[in-house]
Amino acid sequence: MRPETDALVVIDTQNDFCPGGALAVPGGDQVVPGINALMAEFAVVILTQDWHPADHSSFASRHAGKAPMEMTDMPYGPQVLWPDHCVQGSAGAAFHPDLNTDRADLIIRKGFRRHIDSYSAFFENDHETPTGLEGYLRTRGIDRLTMVGLATDFCVNFSAVDGAKLGFDVTLRQDLCGAIDLDGSLAAALEGMEKAGVTLS
Ligand SMILES: [Zn+2]
Repeated sequence: MRPETDALVVIDTQNDFCPGGALAVPGGDQVVPGINALMAEFAVVILTQDWHPADHSSFASRHAGKAPMEMTDMPYGPQVLWPDHCVQGSAGAAFHPDLNTDRADLIIRKGFRRHIDSYSAFFENDHETPTGLEGYLRTRGIDRLTMVGLATDFCVNFSAVDGAKLGFDVTLRQDLCGAIDLDGSLAAALEGMEKAGVTLS
């Protein structure tokens, strides 16, 4: 068992990001058994949950003439428009039924503000508004993070890069992540994480 300074952070392993979901990552459900097994090594397990109001501004359905996966400009910068997904309280927003949620010390919900999306477990997409995760980790004395989950090139990527920038020792377990891979986004994400000092394992 690893020490209590070392946390496993499971990103957005929810039905909508798994096959059959609204924003499915190919093979997204296949990482679940491995994530459950990895939990046995960790004293601290943290889950994140994408959690949007039904009229969230990241949904293409809220932008006339726009289709999912098109870009738009938000006050905080460019934003991919997504199919409606992870709506608060919906079956799609629930964790994958096989994910062991019993081990979670903390479930951090993100993306609940209507006008701003939140990929990172640490900050909303303005890169300023905190989710509170940093404070939780610091006050518990946690300085090492292993990240797994969905999707490698969006929420896992932003979480890992922000964690590294904040000074945490971050390792990404690529075999326990799944990517959307939109126009080369996976390759760009891996390069960006490496540059930020994330250990790719
Ligand atoms: Zn989302």
